[in-house]
Amino acid sequence: MLPTKPTREFVTGLPKAELHLHIEGTLEPELKLKLAKKNNIDIGQSTIEDVKKSLEFNDLVSFLNVYYPAMEVLQDESDFYELAMAYLKKAHQNGIKHTEIFFDPQAHTARGISFETVIMGLSSAVQDARAFGVDASLIMCFLRDLTSESARQTLEEALPFADLINGVGLDSDEHHNPPMKFAQEFHTAASYGFNLTMHADVDQVHSIDHIREALEVIGVQRLDHGTNILEDPDLVDFVVQKNIGLTSCPLSNSLVTKNNGISDNKGKELIELLNKGVKMTVNSDDPAYFGGYVVDNFMELIDNNGLTSEQVVQLAKNSFEISWISDNQKELYLEQIEAYINDFIE
Ligand SMILES: [Zn+2]
Repeated sequence: MLPTKPTREFVTGLPKAELHLHIEGTLEPELKLKLAKKNNIDIGQSTIEDVKKSLEFNDLVSFLNVYYPAMEVLQDESDFYELAMAYLKKAHQNGIKHTEIFFDPQAHTARGISFETVIMGLSSAVQDARAFGVDASLIMCFLRDLTSESARQTLEEALPFADLINGVGLDSDEHHNPPMKFAQEFHTAASYGFNLTMHADVDQVHSIDHIREALEVIGVQRLDHGTNILEDPDLVDFVVQKNIGLTSCPLSNSLVTKNNGISDNKGKELIELLNKGVKMTVNSDDPAYFGGYVVDNFMELIDNNGLTSEQVVQLAKNSFEISWISDNQKELYLEQIEAYINDFIE
C-alpha cells in the first residue's frame, strides 16, 4: 500500500535505477584525504573541515573549478576501484538496483593517467558490486570544453575496452560548446554501437537550441538535465513519442542556480514534464559536492515540491524503462517495484 506522504523509508526501499551520476563527483572528503596521503599529494587541505570549506560554489563554472583539481588524488587502478566501490555501496544503501555511471577519461589522461588504469579500476568495482545486488555499467563522457579532436582520440583509446562501456555522454562547461561541436564523434560512437546521451544543463545560454541539436541532429537516447525543453512544446511532444527520458538532479540544480539569487531545484518543471508523460527520473549527479545521494534528491522534491507517492513510484519505474538494459531485465525490475508496493505497510 502506498503511504499518503512518501517517507524516507518508503523511498529508500523502493527499487530504483540511477542514470546520472559522475563517479568523480562521489569523491567524499574522507576518501580524498586518504588518497592524498597515500599518493603523497599536497592538496592544500589536511582536515575534513578544510575540504568542506573548499566546496563553495554558486554556478556551474565555479563548481567545475573546484571539481577537476580534486581528481589529482586519483592515481592508480586501486584508487579508481576504491572510488567506485564506495559509491556502489552507497547506491546499495539507497535502494539502487541498477546504475549507469559516468566517467570523464580526459580529466585523467590529461594529467598522465592512462585510459586503461581508469577503466580497469572502475570496471573491477562494477564486477564486484554484483555480489551485493547492484548491477552497474559505465558511460564515457567527453569534456565539451576540450576540442572535438581530443574527443576523437578518447573514443579511439576506448575501443579496446568497448565491451566495458555502455554508452557515450557529454559534460562539463556548456557555454560556447554546443552538441554540434561533437556531431562527428557521436556519429562514430553510434556506429560502434554505443548508446548516446548528452548534458543539457539547466538555464544555459542557448539551452533550447542545444536540446534541439542533441535530439534532432545527434539523435541522443536520453537528455541529462534538459528541463529547459519546456520552452518548446514540439520538442516535449517529440521526447514523449520517442520515449526519450530526462535525468534530473534536484540538489545539483539548487546549487548551480544559486548565483541567480534564487536557488531553484527545477522540481516544478520536473513535475510538469512528468504530468505531460515525459520519462523523468531523479538522480544525484555529483553527490559528494551537492549534498546528497539519490534518496536525498527524492526527499528534496517530496519536502519542497509536494511530490506524491504515486509520482515517486512513476519516477522509479521510468528509471528502469529508460535505462540501457534488456527488456527482460526491465520487466524483472518493474515486477520488483510492484511487489514492493504491494508489501509496503505504513
Ligand atoms: Zn551531470
